[in-house]
Amino acid sequence: MTKASVNDFRRTLEAKRKELLAGGSDRQEILIENAAEEFDRLQQQLNREVAIRNLDRESKLLKEVQSAITRMEEDTFGICLRCEEAIPEKRLKALPWAAYCVPCQETIEHQRASGELADDEPGSVELAAA
Ligand SMILES: [Zn+2]
Repeated sequence: MTKASVNDFRRTLEAKRKELLAGGSDRQEILIENAAEEFDRLQQQLNREVAIRNLDRESKLLKEVQSAITRMEEDTFGICLRCEEAIPEKRLKALPWAAYCVPCQETIEHQRASGELADDEPGSVELAAA
C-alpha cells in the first residue's frame, strides 16, 4: 500500500473516530428519567434500550477504529490479524477499520454464530458492504 493511501485511510479513520466520540442524540435518551404516565415510562424504557444497544455498537466500532489507527502507527495497517495476508484495498475502502480479510472475517463470524467464539472476541463490525 502506498503512503498516500495510508494517509487517506488515516483521515477517514480519524474523522470516524471524531464522529463516534462526539456521539449522537442517543445519549440523551439514556438520561431521561421519571415520566408521569406509565405509557411514557414504557416508551422511554424502550427508547433507552435501543439507545443502549446503539451505544454498545458505537463503542465497539470506536474500539475498532482506534485499533486501526494504532495499527497504522505500528505499520501493520491493512494486514489481516488472523492470516497476516494483506487485506485488499477495495475492502479497506469500504471498511477502513477492517482487521481481517474477507475469508477470515467469515470464519470468525461463523465461529461466533456457532458459539465457538465469544461475542467480545475481536472482530469487525460490518457497517458497510465489503
Ligand atoms: Zn485473513
